[in-house]
Amino acid sequence: MIFHDFEFSELAHNFITGASFEEWLGQPPADSTEVRDLVACSLNKQPLTPMQTARLLRAEGPAVIEIILDAARTLKREVYGNRIVLFAPLYIGNLCTNDCGYCAFRRSNPEAQRRTLSTDELRRQIETLEQKGHKRLILVFGEHPRYDARYIADVVRQVYSIHIGRGEIRRVNINAAPLDVEGFREVKAAGIGTYQIFQETYHEPTYHRYHPADTRKGHYLYRLDALNRAMTAGIDDVGIGALFGLYDWRFDTLGLVAHAVHLQENFGVGPHTISFPRIQPASGVDFDNRYMVSDADFKRMIAILRLAVPYTGLILTARESPEIRREVLAFGVSQIDAGSRIELGGYTEAGDAQTQVLEREQFRLGDVRSLDEVMGELLQDGYLPSFCTACYRLGRTGEHFMEFAIPGFIKRYCTPNGLTTLLEYLVDYASVETRRAGEELISRELAMMPDSAQKQELIRRMQQIRETDARDLYF
Ligand code: SF4
Ligand code: SF4
Repeated sequence: MIFHDFEFSELAHNFITGASFEEWLGQPPADSTEVRDLVACSLNKQPLTPMQTARLLRAEGPAVIEIILDAARTLKREVYGNRIVLFAPLYIGNLCTNDCGYCAFRRSNPEAQRRTLSTDELRRQIETLEQKGHKRLILVFGEHPRYDARYIADVVRQVYSIHIGRGEIRRVNINAAPLDVEGFREVKAAGIGTYQIFQETYHEPTYHRYHPADTRKGHYLYRLDALNRAMTAGIDDVGIGALFGLYDWRFDTLGLVAHAVHLQENFGVGPHTISFPRIQPASGVDFDNRYMVSDADFKRMIAILRLAVPYTGLILTARESPEIRREVLAFGVSQIDAGSRIELGGYTEAGDAQTQVLEREQFRLGDVRSLDEVMGELLQDGYLPSFCTACYRLGRTGEHFMEFAIPGFIKRYCTPNGLTTLLEYLVDYASVETRRAGEELISRELAMMPDSAQKQELIRRMQQIRETDARDLYF
């Protein structure tokens, strides 16, 4: 089927050189000397090319793989420190004209319960999220004519306008169908943060296997070109992703790195975030498990991505179990969702109940703990959970690049903002245990900061948060 309304950017071409990927991945394994040289580049703050990344993907044997894991831990610890940014997904509607073979919301699944949140339902979902302490959301839409650019922009504006108590949503990111340049402009004008579109798999034959040609998503190049159009429209904050388990994880890791390089080369800024969900069971879904990614390979993949694109945020979602999430945080994940409900209306209708209704969900979650429980565990493990949105609000774009590349950026901005947003959470929403753990972490962090005018200002602001209604006091 030909879709006559497809618009391509001037850059539209298939920059995924699949034949080269296969050739590189067919080379003999890299030895420890080569792997050490490559990780030294990353630790020296140089991103890796897809070909260099392929060499890390071709490393074999526990000792060589440990060099990679260890380097990713070092990069995360020494460059990014202990902050983890928290967000929540909110499904707005699951009408969908596509028929992705792995998704419970595909049009051919008669078991899917279709629903779009009404204005009132949306308000109740947002109020509930705010009352739990969330500040950053990603809104998720199916692909359907009803969810056009104007609709998405309207929903974004509504979300920003809803406040309950001291709650507010400060950053709204979007995961929705690709738009044309005009559509992306309209959504940007509503004040979105990141626009996220996953290619699902960069392996074109596999892409066509899972996305029928008579659907809009069936056009590989139209989707691959989507973020070129978004960036042409002025959205410089975009998220890429692949659904791991559709094809060889090594190939799709190279696809992600090549996509990051393509955006960097053409727009001067790479993707803001990379997501790497693994396929999970979903309602009515029968998938090929040949390419399922083991936990060991998943850890390796995250470590290699950390090293290959060191200034891009890595998002790990609640599809993964608490145990896996805890383990891979150390390899360089910078954002996680928490307290997530992915059924339509789930935040008010299911609350924190740890049950799932597969007929109403796109896939199954592995981590259904509440935000407070996740916060508590992060704090106990020595992480600084952050709801910081300062750069976006001050127009400081390319934030991951800045934290990575500008000496002292994390000390000057990220840690103080992480501490004030954590304190807001502790004062306004936390359980007694989480508040205790959070206060201890704040004391430790303050004790480690050398005396300075900024530290005094931070202490003054924290006092204000404890004693008054003043909120959102970012540096
Ligand atoms: Fe629709 Fe997205 Fe599911 Fe595909 S993955 S069927 S586009 S909701
Ligand atoms: Fe991110 Fe900027 Fe906040 Fe640092 S200060 S955590 S880079 S938004």
